[in-house]
Amino acid sequence: SLTIGIVGLPNVGKSTMFNALTKNNVLAANYPFATIDPHVGVVGIPDARLTKLAEVFNSQKVLPATLDFVDIAGIVRGASKGEGMGNKFLANIREADAICQVIRAFKDDNVVHVDGRISPRNDIDTIDTELILADLQTIEKALPRLQKEARVKKDRQAELKAVEEAQAILEEGRTLFSAGIAQGTEAVAPLYELHLLTTKPFIYVFNVDEDELVDEAFKDEQRALIAPAEAVFLNAKLEADLAELEDDEALELLQTVGQNEPGLATLARVGFRTLGLQTYLTAGPKESRAWTIKQGATAPEAAGVIHTDFQKGFIKAEVISFPDLVETGSVAEARAKGKARMEGKEYVMQDGDVVEFRFNV
Ligand code: GDP
Repeated sequence: SLTIGIVGLPNVGKSTMFNALTKNNVLAANYPFATIDPHVGVVGIPDARLTKLAEVFNSQKVLPATLDFVDIAGIVRGASKGEGMGNKFLANIREADAICQVIRAFKDDNVVHVDGRISPRNDIDTIDTELILADLQTIEKALPRLQKEARVKKDRQAELKAVEEAQAILEEGRTLFSAGIAQGTEAVAPLYELHLLTTKPFIYVFNVDEDELVDEAFKDEQRALIAPAEAVFLNAKLEADLAELEDDEALELLQTVGQNEPGLATLARVGFRTLGLQTYLTAGPKESRAWTIKQGATAPEAAGVIHTDFQKGFIKAEVISFPDLVETGSVAEARAKGKARMEGKEYVMQDGDVVEFRFNV
């Protein structure tokens, strides 16, 4: 499954946030025999539709879609040159599908800032710079070979040009993601082989004081620093408290600070979107469940997420949209009212489709 790597300077609240993430561990609840890696936090994506489906189908279990977060320690100034745990840091980050930077905005005289002052802009620059320097090194290492290849093979010239353009962007101190050369876009194709770090999608978590959670002007200022990436604002200590509470108590606490869902839930949702993912739903007396697919996945590809045999033997998908199912109240009634569609191999899944697959075994 896809993972989001959490990075940030020391003392910004990463561990606090990560501990809250792992307490939230849906794996532990649903798969008690699974081995749990202490460096991976599995977060359920909150989805009110599942609760509703579980009511309609009288399901015993509700299984939300999940996203994996990995704690990547070790970013300090000089990490790209192997300082601190620099090399390990870069290897770990290379494996993540998206990069989540945790940025300190909270004020607390008892918590030392590594640079002696609180400045989200500086912190973002420090981390971006290490990632940018790492990419520049990768490019500088590859260039002599690429130049040689481009001299003999015409079809390598486009690649060389793309790499040189990427180098120019990085030399201006910009990440490739912020310049629109992001994973999943066509612009990144000629660079693919280099596995550059800054083509990964970025998400920024601002660890803020509670009053800043509702300070729209402040939040807009931070958003401006990181556009086009998305920002999530949360208070890590509050998230740690929320993770200890039952849902209704958590909601009460959230409302006292003007929020209606935990920041970690928002983060999971933003992460899901950033990675280009969506869900479809299955429901029955055993479980109501959300399954993760890429946006644009076809019905057979979606079936393959449940089991590869479902994809191989795919015949049809019976699809009812979530609103239609809720309105009619049951699958039988949805069928009777003509709201259940039989879709074939070409069907592109829509978010929130409730599906039953027909397949040969
Ligand atoms: P890390 O080094 O980034 O993993 O940071 P930690 O999670 O260990 O946090 C460093 C210190 O900051 C600890 O003493 C935390 O209790 C404190 N801390 C973390 N988040 C917050 C916050 O939102 N507000 C305040 N006031 N302190 C926090």
